[in-house]
Amino acid sequence: MNRNFPILLAEDHVVTRKLLEKKLVQAGHEVTSVENGRDALRLFENRFFPIILTDWIMPEMDGLELCRAIRKMHSKGYVYIVLLTAKDGKDDIILGLESGADDYLTKPIDHLELIARLNTAKRILSLEKSLKDANEENILLSVTDSLTGCYNRGYLNETLPNEIERARRYDHDLSIVFCDIDHFKKVNDTHGHQVGDLVLKEFVQRIRELVRDKVDWIARYGGEEFMVVLPETDVTGACSMAKRLRSSLADRKILIHDKMLSVTSSFGVTGINLDTSVSMKKFDTIIGQVDKFLYQAKEKGRDCIVSGVL
Ligand SMILES: [Mg+2]
Repeated sequence: MNRNFPILLAEDHVVTRKLLEKKLVQAGHEVTSVENGRDALRLFENRFFPIILTDWIMPEMDGLELCRAIRKMHSKGYVYIVLLTAKDGKDDIILGLESGADDYLTKPIDHLELIARLNTAKRILSLEKSLKDANEENILLSVTDSLTGCYNRGYLNETLPNEIERARRYDHDLSIVFCDIDHFKKVNDTHGHQVGDLVLKEFVQRIRELVRDKVDWIARYGGEEFMVVLPETDVTGACSMAKRLRSSLADRKILIHDKMLSVTSSFGVTGINLDTSVSMKKFDTIIGQVDKFLYQAKEKGRDCIVSGVL
């Protein structure tokens, strides 16, 4: 538990520093100690410490300056700062807290009190972590399609323009495969919506088997329409992914309960590359084009791929 909260200790007085370090290590803490605020700040810039114990009066940079500097930084989590001070006047305490310290301990340091204060720090940091985790979970839920687990349309609308911009800026390829399961209404009408839902889940699973983890991504565009975004992939590469998906559906029927369902999909594929004019490298243009290709695939009799480069 203690090792999850490494401590950065800044104290110029060598005996006090060594003694504190010893007590903290005995209590199971991981401690890194330095002799002034400037060194503490320098270290903190390269490594995050959730807890800082700092003396007030030190050469180079004192504890208050350190507090202020830490609070100005954008760090990856909350930093709980305890000021160690011989000053215990009311004004001093207020000044210390106003500079960004969360708590203070008056010298000479009582070691039991120090450990008790650190336990408070750990409680607060644990609370902050669980709030942060819950927040991240909420963010993830807000961009996820609850049925299939792929991204939702909101995520597509927000993220695809950034992908396009990145591809434009670095002259990279970017391709999109727009899939629409053929006659999906018939699946629902014949077998019921629960089976239809399982078909959608399996369809996404089949796409996942064919795309690169953490690079390519899938979004549910609407009912049975899915968009696969393939960064740094040209249209030929995207077509071959669509072909493999088409084969996967043809070769392996979807088994749901005791039924083997034959499912096919139509595909529209497009993308941008080095030769694509800047005016075409736009979200609406790309979506419009890939939608047109998908429509043509439907017109051609479904279960096929229509592609083109912008
Ligand atoms: Mg000092």
